[in-house]
Amino acid sequence: MRTVYVNGEYLPETEARVSIFDRGFLMADGVYEVTSVLDGKLVDFEGHLARLERSLNELDMRKPDGFDNLLEIHRDLVARNGIEDGLIYLQVTRGSDGDRDFVFPDPETTPPTLVLFTQSKPGLADNPAAKKGMKIISIDDLRWGRRDIKTVQLLYPSMGKMMARKAGADDAWMIEDGHVTEGTSNNAYIVKGNTIVTRHLSHEILHGITRAAVLSFAREAQMQVEERPFTLDEAKAADEAFVTSASAFVMPVVEIDGTALGDGAPGPVARRLREIYIDESRKAAV
Ligand code: PMP
Repeated sequence: MRTVYVNGEYLPETEARVSIFDRGFLMADGVYEVTSVLDGKLVDFEGHLARLERSLNELDMRKPDGFDNLLEIHRDLVARNGIEDGLIYLQVTRGSDGDRDFVFPDPETTPPTLVLFTQSKPGLADNPAAKKGMKIISIDDLRWGRRDIKTVQLLYPSMGKMMARKAGADDAWMIEDGHVTEGTSNNAYIVKGNTIVTRHLSHEILHGITRAAVLSFAREAQMQVEERPFTLDEAKAADEAFVTSASAFVMPVVEIDGTALGDGAPGPVARRLREIYIDESRKAAV
């Protein structure tokens, strides 16, 4: 049984409790982060912490008690649960004032809820899916307009994954005004020649922590990077494609809406960036 963290306490998962009036439950009024663990250490922790602080600020949500000890709490959970490779999920909600109201409760009297739990994923960095590559379908992007805030409103991305599964694919890329925004739970990239193209940062996409690291490694390796929107047709005509996220690292994409990219196998740029990202992350993990 897992030991989880709820509002200052470490508890067995079956004893952890959050109110039915919690605004995370009633209104998806909450934000989250997922940090990966390799060899018992945290990958890109500082980046996730900085983005969490930004998400809270954007929603006028106060920092939860424990915010200043988040590194220690993450490490405690890794140790208490014996996590070698896996993920730490963290969620902050606007808490519960014991009723339901659209108006935010007074932050002085209603503290945010802070929950963290671990997911053990042995061999996270050796995911066999990376050898095969992913098949992607395209779907309309029907999400709200502030995708740069990492909220727990994940119903549409979840529906997108189910649409992909029904179509015999692994994931979906979302399309808005003819251009790819991002994957359901990852940032999207195409490669043409020596150039990597990925959408620029804005309110339209999540500012991926893995994205920032991968783009800087790509530039260090003398690859060209263009941060701009790209169309679905451009993607289908690309030499290769891939996605990035904290849990998948760099994952090759080999097919889009039934069209195979290149020779239909993971491309050299995606494979190389995956290798660099995992190597460097292991070295820099805390
Ligand atoms: N975009 C979306 C919509 C996501 O849900 C995620 C992962 N949570 C990402 C991008 C990738 O972000 P990160 O690299 O920080 O995991």
